[in-house]
Amino acid sequence: MSFIIDPETIKLRCPINVYQKGQLLFNGNKVGRLNFDGNHVSALVFDDKEYKVDIEIVDNKVVNHKCTCKESTQTIGFCKHVIAVLLTLNRAASQSERTVFAGFKVID
Ligand SMILES: [Zn+2]
Repeated sequence: MSFIIDPETIKLRCPINVYQKGQLLFNGNKVGRLNFDGNHVSALVFDDKEYKVDIEIVDNKVVNHKCTCKESTQTIGFCKHVIAVLLTLNRAASQSERTVFAGFKVID
């Protein structure tokens, strides 16, 4: 299994129930428009409404994350939308050709 962000480090940055909600969004294919630009990845997450997520990744670590949801402004941890995008990013890293990930390092 290849990934960009170690799944265990995702779990360290949110409560377990939030992680599980993120997993549900990911499993339900609620993440779209995954876009890469240097060290940044952005995406839209379709929950009760549409949320925009921006994440900055340096050396396989999330150094910045932003989401347009309310929860995101109330916590320094990851919201479920950020988690859903990170899980989608990991899945893409293990499935598609690596040239897509110009600014990212895939970990085997
Ligand atoms: Zn959010």
